[in-house]
Amino acid sequence: MSDPAIKSEPHIIRPDKDTFLAEENPFEAMMERFDHAAQLLKLDPGLYKVLRNPEKQIITSVPIVRDSGDVEVYTGYRVLYNTSRGPAKGGIRFDLNVTLEEVKALAAWMTWKCALVNIPFGGAKGGVVCDPATMSMAELERVTRRYTSSIIETLGPDSDVPAPDVNTNERVMAWIMDTYSMHKRHTVTAVVTGKPVEMGGSLGRREATGRGCMFVTREALAKLGMSLKGARVAVQGFGNVGSVAADLMAKEGAVIVAVSDKSGALHNPQGLDIPDLIAWVKEHRQLTGYPKAEPFNKEQLLTVDCDVLVPAATENVITRKNAPQIKAKVICEGANGPTTAAADEILERKGVFVIPDILANAGGVTVSYFEWVQDRGGYFWDEDTVNRRLESIMVRAFNEVAATTEKYKVNTRIASYIVAVGRVAAMHRLRGMYA
Ligand code: NAD
Repeated sequence: MSDPAIKSEPHIIRPDKDTFLAEENPFEAMMERFDHAAQLLKLDPGLYKVLRNPEKQIITSVPIVRDSGDVEVYTGYRVLYNTSRGPAKGGIRFDLNVTLEEVKALAAWMTWKCALVNIPFGGAKGGVVCDPATMSMAELERVTRRYTSSIIETLGPDSDVPAPDVNTNERVMAWIMDTYSMHKRHTVTAVVTGKPVEMGGSLGRREATGRGCMFVTREALAKLGMSLKGARVAVQGFGNVGSVAADLMAKEGAVIVAVSDKSGALHNPQGLDIPDLIAWVKEHRQLTGYPKAEPFNKEQLLTVDCDVLVPAATENVITRKNAPQIKAKVICEGANGPTTAAADEILERKGVFVIPDILANAGGVTVSYFEWVQDRGGYFWDEDTVNRRLESIMVRAFNEVAATTEKYKVNTRIASYIVAVGRVAAMHRLRGMYA
């Protein structure tokens, strides 16, 4: 989360950059990486300034009548970071911690991610400062519809296409699609992605991020002369991304030796039964209590003996403190921003192959792109087609990052930024400056 105190004290020397910057503000760390890539790309100063600033920032009041009859006013944001390559793409979150700074940075992140997998989208993000846990479904619907109507000028299949994010889901996307369509006086399914399949969502979207993780991990292991078959994998976070990645890797022959969630961790060096664990979590909502594996300290999951580590929970979990103890040869960043800048340096020195977040978890936005294409074409693909096309995009992006790593002699994270920022910059150069 951004810290206004740090922002307003630019002259303070921070002795521990890892603690003060990256661990509290992963987005500052992200822009540091952008700067590194921009330097290597020798971006001209004008273009550098353009790419460091969001195109459009909306702050809006979202008043609703609560079930009690009282009026409450929430604050909503939508930031379009860069739309040079196509319509803005990015999720909407409902959370008390939403800030404009955070939304801005996440919108930049989406810009690089879409460019890296070379899909024709720019980057955006949005949010409403509210606590959905304290709201009824009817109140949530009113917040969604009022927020949608207040940002309706930016929304549209050709201009800005939201998706689910923290505390929003396909139910919320359905309300956004309906509100937008009512204003336009016709049904516009392509205005959001992550919708229910019955109303134009894509088959394979739910599994897409975890599936993408599996594809790029397979490619990274092949580069190291290894295979997913028999690889020992530890997965932090057993939600949408982590459980699907674990399941699909196990189906490719990997041995999932450890998994964790908020409640705790499980370990079995012989391999956990992932479908059984998924069924357990569906029923019990957490891993803890599962009777067929040894519980262990969830903090130790990251340093457990394994070949592949998949942090798929939350940001800033791999730090300068635990990075030296990490045993994995490959880290696949399912989560956004799990590794701090200082940890990155340690992992690089240790020779760990890091598949950075903007590549590793780009499967989700790639299938969102497929959803948008299907909605616009009015022609829907079977799941095999979705998965095959996802594989081809993920493998191509992986190979481009690997080639850039060698060309510039940089780590895979900086290489990913070089590919992504380079693509956005190229579009700006071709389009020229309209001034
Ligand atoms: P989710 O809410 O479905 O699952 C999160 C999981 O992490 C849960 O099992 C939770 O218990 C666990 N967790 C949280 N804190 C933990 C901790 N400290 N230690 C261990 N486990 C912990 O969320 P998700 O959709 O799977 O997203 C996970 C990450 O992947 C987030 O960073 C998200 O931004 C990123 N991501 C998700 C998608 C997507 O399509 N779902 C796409 C791109 C990136």
